[in-house]
Amino acid sequence: MLVDTVKGMYINGEWVQAESGSMLEVFNPATREKITEIPSGGKKEADEAIRSANAAFESWSELTARERSNYLYKAYHLMLERKEKLASILTEEQGKPLKEARGEIEFAASFLLWYAEEANRVYGEMIPSSKKNKRLWVVPKPIGVVAAITPWNFPAAMITRKVGPALAAGCPVVLKPAEQTPLSAIEIVKIFEEVGLPKGVLNLVVGDPVEIGKEIMDSSDVRLVTFTGSTEVGKLLMEGSAQTVKKLALELGGHAPLLVFEDADLDLAVDQAIASKYRNCGQTCICTNRLYVHSDVKDQFLEKLEAKVRELRIGNGSDETVDIGPLIDDSGLNKVKDQVEDAVSKGAELMTGGKQWDGPGGYFFEPTILANVTDDMKIMSQETFGPVVPIQTFDRDEEAIAAANNTNYGLASFLFTNNLNRAIKVMEKLDYGIIGINDVFPGTAEAPFGGIKESGLGKEGGHEGIKEYLEMKYVSLAVSDKL
Ligand code: NAP
Repeated sequence: MLVDTVKGMYINGEWVQAESGSMLEVFNPATREKITEIPSGGKKEADEAIRSANAAFESWSELTARERSNYLYKAYHLMLERKEKLASILTEEQGKPLKEARGEIEFAASFLLWYAEEANRVYGEMIPSSKKNKRLWVVPKPIGVVAAITPWNFPAAMITRKVGPALAAGCPVVLKPAEQTPLSAIEIVKIFEEVGLPKGVLNLVVGDPVEIGKEIMDSSDVRLVTFTGSTEVGKLLMEGSAQTVKKLALELGGHAPLLVFEDADLDLAVDQAIASKYRNCGQTCICTNRLYVHSDVKDQFLEKLEAKVRELRIGNGSDETVDIGPLIDDSGLNKVKDQVEDAVSKGAELMTGGKQWDGPGGYFFEPTILANVTDDMKIMSQETFGPVVPIQTFDRDEEAIAAANNTNYGLASFLFTNNLNRAIKVMEKLDYGIIGINDVFPGTAEAPFGGIKESGLGKEGGHEGIKEYLEMKYVSLAVSDKL
């Protein structure tokens, strides 16, 4: 076992057990075997974590930006030193292949580096006044205690993408990771403990999401909730935030379309469509959920796609040769089965895959391609979060754009074309927060990531990312004419 089981929740610089004695079992989705169990908290632990963060706020925010950034630099280096161990833990509790887990740890660390740097670039503003006797300026201030609620699909990167900018801005954090993947969170908190982060600045609470969530939402001390997860829970948090008028940053679900135009480099489009659809077993918020291909190149595209998808190796992610690991749990598996059954019953053509795969006993589903899909099938409107790609054709650009935009989601979209003019015109008409042109990997620490419509509010990454954690204090000073 890679994980130190006595570590549980981390509050005010101490590792603590749950007062109730409750334990949370953590399973390996590739085998359904129990990995370990850890203390599972609720209202009391959430309350203590918020108090501890609140007590740490003043001293943490009064450090110089350079002092705060130094902790982040050290954490960045330690995270990279631990890459192999962190990646193995991630694969064990989440299921993604080791090569992807290593990539996620590097991605996660990149947010610590980026925000170590951005900490030193939080600038204010002087405003030229319309009155001679006034001097006006804007001073950025840390917003206060931040609650960070994270999902299981990127158990490391979704934490550092929040904790990095929060700490850089001067905000203490109460972190609540997903119940399926608390072990990566524990390891990340241990890194911050080892670099000497002052007590109370980063707190970890694991356990009952409803109890912990309510304590966070009801607290007047928590000024920002930064959440990555489903649109459904994001909406609940929006409702909950009203009583204390707290700010929300929401990274929610997606339903990404990928458009392949007739002038696209088809080999590139096929390789990238596979990377976009099947990485993390399709459990990525920006995974291609719908694929639209121009009818002139449909047969060619499908032939190449099918041949390559058939080559993908499914299995336990700890095997270095595996391309696709398991889904996270039974409900993830059932959702995928349901969408495939629904599509096939309504006339979709199953080109490959379509079945559960038992393998080492986990929640596996074969990489699947569905052709001749119609809009009434569930898969065309529900987020799939699984290794299934539904394909439709189009003849005109306007048709493809309308189909792509026909959703309440607005996270990411992708298009493949070698026509620069078309790339620009289509990009301008796509209603998405993120657009990849001949590129399905837009996520990077230096760029703003985030959705529009029901995919969320706010940005993570880039210089925009730290702004979520700041309030702008406006100052007006009256001066006299006398020297
Ligand atoms: P989820 O069910 O919404 O859970 C996300 C987090 O919220 C977990 O920590 C969960 O805790 C917690 N939670 C659940 N109910 C809560 C409540 N009532 N109050 C407070 N917290 C609550 O989402 P998920 O299944 O873990 O993640 C998959 C979703 O995340 C997908 O929709 C995906 O698109 C989205 N996502 C979006 C982005 C993005 O950048 N836009 C990135 C990654 C993932 P428990 O685990 O304890 O239930």
